[in-house]
Order: sequence, then structure tokens, then C-alpha cells
Amino acid sequence: MGNSCERPERGMESGMISVDKWSSGSQAYFLTHLHADHTVGLSSAWKHGLLFCSRLTSRLFPCKFPDFDLSLLRVLRVGSWHSITLTTPSSGAPTQVYVKPIDAHHCPGSVMYLFRGKFGYMLYTGDFRWEAAGNEVQSGRTMLLDSLKKRTLNTLHLDNTYCNPRYSFPSREVASKQVVDIITSHPDHDVIIAIDSLGKEDLLLYISRTLNIKVWVWPERLQIMHILGFRSNFTTQTTVTRVRAVPRYSFTTETLEGLNKTRRTIGIMPSGLPWPAKAKEKSVNVFGSSSCSERTAQTSNDDSSNDTISLEEGSIKRYGKYIYVVPYSAHSCFSEIKDFVELLRPINIKGIVSSASCHIDPCYYFDHLCGTQQAFWRSHQKPDNEDQGGNTVEDDVREGDVHSPYSVVRRKKRAMEFFRVSRVQVMRRRSHGSKITDAADDDDE
Ligand SMILES: [Zn+2]
Repeated sequence: MGNSCERPERGMESGMISVDKWSSGSQAYFLTHLHADHTVGLSSAWKHGLLFCSRLTSRLFPCKFPDFDLSLLRVLRVGSWHSITLTTPSSGAPTQVYVKPIDAHHCPGSVMYLFRGKFGYMLYTGDFRWEAAGNEVQSGRTMLLDSLKKRTLNTLHLDNTYCNPRYSFPSREVASKQVVDIITSHPDHDVIIAIDSLGKEDLLLYISRTLNIKVWVWPERLQIMHILGFRSNFTTQTTVTRVRAVPRYSFTTETLEGLNKTRRTIGIMPSGLPWPAKAKEKSVNVFGSSSCSERTAQTSNDDSSNDTISLEEGSIKRYGKYIYVVPYSAHSCFSEIKDFVELLRPINIKGIVSSASCHIDPCYYFDHLCGTQQAFWRSHQKPDNEDQGGNTVEDDVREGDVHSPYSVVRRKKRAMEFFRVSRVQVMRRRSHGSKITDAADDDDE
């Protein structure tokens, strides 16, 4: 490998690895984290191959997939290179792929995956938060740069959930203080906070420790808290606390209106979204029933009929009589995404979120950081990949016209799958599997 003016040997062939995608046809499967929009197609009955994940994700895994064959799980140590022996689909020859998980600071167990091999370097962020001021990001920055060793990152698959300058919000530390301020300014109210089945634990811990109270969670969530080591801050007894963390799907304006008939209650929605929903939707579950998903409420718009009180960007917003939306996000805001891209300056950049509506191809904003190289590689890379008789990673991940700044894609694609392979190749993999070993940091292909 050389500098950014040189060309990578070739793209990774399809049929080798998949990240957060669970259909058959790959030799190794990588899970970034356990939110439901990253596990579509994964079930307790899934048996397509070995599944690689972080240690914490492996510990949480049985909570979500209780009957899963755990012998298929392979734990990867965060911050270390691991070597995996795979088969090159086009030639049948063995090849080494190296992978290093890096903390994504999104939810417990979440990691990015940095891959390297004959295809060059490729980073798949999964969902991630890149808070520039945080010590964790500083160590992540060092780890990424040390791992790349001044070599070019060929492809960056990027969490583009908030890849738009209008998405501007503070650090989670600041947002946590905002939440506590809301709670303390309502001393006679009960408080419900919308959370997912995983994530935003730091916010709840901050509330618990700052106010010296326990936070109610539902029984399954308490089990997860115990696995994470948080035993003293949470309870399932409603009588011992006025602060309750409830499933996002149950957090509705109707719920709040119903609760207020018997007891004064406010709701707090931690989310990076600049507004929550249209007023006309308030009789239904305005925040959806998602898992990860700050992003599921993004079908909302700025309909002038809504009763959201929109303050300046990054501040608390009021929705109706009872709901506060606080800019606490597990995803990176635009400035953080920009900082991340500027750090890595990849040749190719792809958004991993491509649902309809407002998601934007990251190239629209960051082409100047990698655009000329992208154009170069796009115009030069295809013949080589055709020679291999298959698609490239980029072909498999791409949807819509990447040259169109607002390429709206019809369906959400949460991952990449590096090529479909023949039935013979699938059978070969089933019989041989893939082998993984730790690799020294200075190992190279
Ligand atoms: Zn997520």
C-alpha cells in the first residue's frame, strides 16, 4: 500500500464479509451493535456462519436472541488487530483479512470495524458518536491514525444519520445537565424518559447520581443494567422514585395526557432531532417503536401547524404541554462527522443510512475532502473489478446515484455485503468455515 495518489490493488470481492447484514452468502459476519435496525434478518435460528462482535455485545447477545447458537459467536478484542482466514471467491485461494474493532461510543458494546487486506483499508463506523472534546474520542483518534500508519483509507462507510449542517447539538454531558435541570425544575412532577432497549445508560446514571435517586426501568431493562454492572442505580419498584425510563414505543402524547389525569407528569425525549413530530400525529406514537432510533422520527417536518416550540439549535424544545425534547444524541452531529472525515480523508465515502426523506449522501458535503480522489478511483477502478468477475464493495453498498447530491434512496440499507457467491463457494465455506487469530499490530499483508 502507498500514499493516497497510488491505487489500491483491488476492491474486496463479494462473498467475503458482511457488516450488520444477515442474508446468506458471506464467509464472516460482523455485528457493530445490538440495535434492531442493525440486526434485521438476524434471529435465534440464524446459522449462516461465524458472527464476530465485541465482548460486551456477546454478553448482551442472549438477552436479544435467547436461543441463538452461541458457538457461532466470535469475540474480537477492541483495539487489537485480528487475522481471519477467508477464501477468495474468484480464485478459491486463501486470503487474510485483518480487522480491528474500535469503540464507537454509541451504546454498550458498539464498535466500528477497520478492515485491511489486499483491498486496502476500509472502515465501517456503524452508528457512532465522535465528541471531539471527549477523552474517548482522543484515544479513538490516536488508535485510528496509528492503525492506518499514514496509509490511505480506501473506503469509509459512515454513520450519516445527522449528515446535515442543520443537525447541531451539544455533547452528551451538556445535554445530561439539561435533562437534570428539567427534572429539578419540576419538583412536584413525575418524569418519564424515553429510551431504547439499549443505549443512553450514561444519561440515566447521571440523573441517578446527581439527584441521588434510583431510576425505574422495566424488568428486561433491569436485567441489561445488571449485565452492564449497574446494580444500585435502577429499580423496578415504582414507589421508590418519580423518574421512570420507559420504552420509546410507549412514549406518546396520549400516554402523557393519560398520566396527567391522575398525577402531574412530564416526558423527556433525548434525541438529536431538531423537532419531534407534527402536531397532527400527536394522537399516535409520534416517536415510533424503534430500537436505535433517533432517526425513526425523521419523517417529521416543519409543518407550521405543529405545536413544537422550536428554540435555537441544540437547545431544549417543548412539544405540546408535557414533552421536552433534549438534544442528547448517540449519533454524531454534523460538525463531528465533518471532523471525522477531515481526520481520515478517505478515497471513497459512503453513507450507511439511506432511508427515504432527508438523508443525504455524505459526498455532498465532504467531496472536497476526498472528491477528486473519489472521481479518480471511480473512473479507474471498474475494469479491475470486472476482471475479477464480480462487484466491488462499493458496487454492493451503493444505492442510487452517488453523484447526485441528494440521492434519495427508497429503502434503508444498514450494511454492506461483499458480493454474492456461487452455491459451490457457499458450500465450500460451510465445510471449512473461517479461522480467526490475533494479529500483531505490525502484521501486514
Ligand atoms: Zn444504533
